[in-house]
Amino acid sequence: MKQSQAPFWESKTLDEMTQQEWESLCDGCGLCCLNKLQDEDTEEIVYTRVICPYSDVQTGQCKDYANRSVNVPSCVQLTRERVAEFDWLPDSCAYRLLYRGQPLPDWHPLVSGDADSLKKAKVGITAIPVVVDTGDLDYEEYLIEKP
Ligand code: SF4
Repeated sequence: MKQSQAPFWESKTLDEMTQQEWESLCDGCGLCCLNKLQDEDTEEIVYTRVICPYSDVQTGQCKDYANRSVNVPSCVQLTRERVAEFDWLPDSCAYRLLYRGQPLPDWHPLVSGDADSLKKAKVGITAIPVVVDTGDLDYEEYLIEKP
């Protein structure tokens, strides 16, 4: 009897994935585009609900992805070489889940086959009362629990 083949996110390590597979892990939640504060002494990172002005708050996508490093020099590129450093990503992020050996949730578009399953599960920036960064906001007033 022929065995069903496990999908790539279950059968490959992050290192073994093609670039296309790696990119497809991003569910487009947009949560990594929320601004964060880091405690100088403890290095603890806390999330705010202030979001990057280049983030499309309707879709969670970057409005100028190709130029994101120019537009926002502090925008972190999520490369597989640096995946171990990404502990600050939301716990729901596929890169964190797979790095920790955890399965993708049912609402992940790769699992559900439905691009809207994220919204239906109320995951991502569309489920948060985000405030678009204007450059003069006091982030301390917008602290939230890590999503
Ligand atoms: S937090 Fe992870 S899944 Fe969500 S947009 Fe960022 S990289 Fe993609």
